[in-house]
Amino acid sequence: MTNRFDAIVIGAGAAGMMTAAVAGQLGRSVALVDHAEKLAEKIRISGGGRCNFTNVNAGPANFLSANPHFCRSALARYTAADFIALVRRHGIAFHEKHRGQLFCDHSAEDIIRMLVRECEMGGVQWFRPCAVSAVTHEAGEFVLATDAGSLRAPKLVIATGGLSIPKIGATDFGYRIARQFGHKIIETRPGLVPLTFNGEQWAPFATLAGASLEVEIETGVGEGRKSARGHFLEDLLFTHRGLSGPAVLQISSYWAGGTAITLDLAAGRDLRAELLAAKAGSRQQLNTVVESLLPARLASTWLALQPAWTAAATRRIAEASDKLLGELAASLTAWSLVPTGTEGYRKAEVTLGGVDTRELNQTSMESLKQPGLHFVGEVMDVTGWLGGYNFQWAWASGHACGSSL
Ligand code: FAD
Repeated sequence: MTNRFDAIVIGAGAAGMMTAAVAGQLGRSVALVDHAEKLAEKIRISGGGRCNFTNVNAGPANFLSANPHFCRSALARYTAADFIALVRRHGIAFHEKHRGQLFCDHSAEDIIRMLVRECEMGGVQWFRPCAVSAVTHEAGEFVLATDAGSLRAPKLVIATGGLSIPKIGATDFGYRIARQFGHKIIETRPGLVPLTFNGEQWAPFATLAGASLEVEIETGVGEGRKSARGHFLEDLLFTHRGLSGPAVLQISSYWAGGTAITLDLAAGRDLRAELLAAKAGSRQQLNTVVESLLPARLASTWLALQPAWTAAATRRIAEASDKLLGELAASLTAWSLVPTGTEGYRKAEVTLGGVDTRELNQTSMESLKQPGLHFVGEVMDVTGWLGGYNFQWAWASGHACGSSL
């Protein structure tokens, strides 16, 4: 068996398989190396096992990066429509769930099988499970010391993903290789992750665990991301330790430690006006009115937060002052709170930050520091919103790189 290839791809996840398949089908000899026992575990667990494989609305505005324009070219050259066409060619049934998010009808395994078949069509040679212990560059070639002996190629693609979910094989390998070849790493942190609060702060809300409702959520300016300000209309989920659900996962990527997030629990409605209208025309108690406007559990928890609200709750709303109703409405529509942290990489869907894209070529994903070295997928400082955007980046960056090898 030869150990010399046109290209070696390390990481057989979404981006790595796409890169290898495209390069292989263009006639390159490609080795695909991965250390994990099970193939593409992150695709398998994605989208609740159904893989939200793209978003029909995917565009540069759905991504966070210190270099926001970098993703533009690859996303334009390989679009959601291109990936959908591939999925259709493989006869995979899918459906749109919510705001352009496409999921497999049956299982994420369909996407893994499709990528494996695409790699086979490109004659890709698999090395897995196979650990890489060292990478060097000698006489115009990358030389990898691996469990399968030494592998050599003039082109090396790092597709080892981010740090989230270490128990299924995530490592900092990609960042280490990047640093070895002189690349800067934009500081990494967990993204698309539940937010936590300290016990005392959270005690009044702990009984709401399991409750969910649509909210508007926003955060201030994130650290080092001057123009990035998150604002989403999505579902919120209360948990025992804090807040989760799509709204909070989305905002977590924009949240800088120590700053506040603000929620409108009435999602854009004029709650003050609704309470004042009820005061004018209803003989009901305040708690009954609030329970008709919000989920009942949330309403009763909220009215218990302030002694004045608790006292007013079981009296007729007509007896409540406009000031009290205004304060109650404001607390619900501009609920501002400072999370103490996140659930970390253990629960994060993605890793923010990564290989600084200012040192990469946006058409080929090639290093501007070390010719022949490429990075694709999540290992780079390009992070998508929740909703199929991260896979679209894996496909688009993998396609751009694979076509250039
Ligand atoms: P990965 O898919 O993580 O692949 C990296 C590969 O590199 C792995 O196979 C790993 O074993 C291998 N590797 C790592 N270190 C080494 C090493 N040292 N040596 C050899 N191999 C190595 N995104 C969406 O768009 N839609 C979703 O529905 C969705 N759901 C998600 C659900 C969960 C629970 C999680 C955690 C993430 C989800 N994501 C989703 C995000 C998405 O899975 C990732 O953004 C995407 O998989 C990144 O692709 P990648 O190829 O860059 O990295």
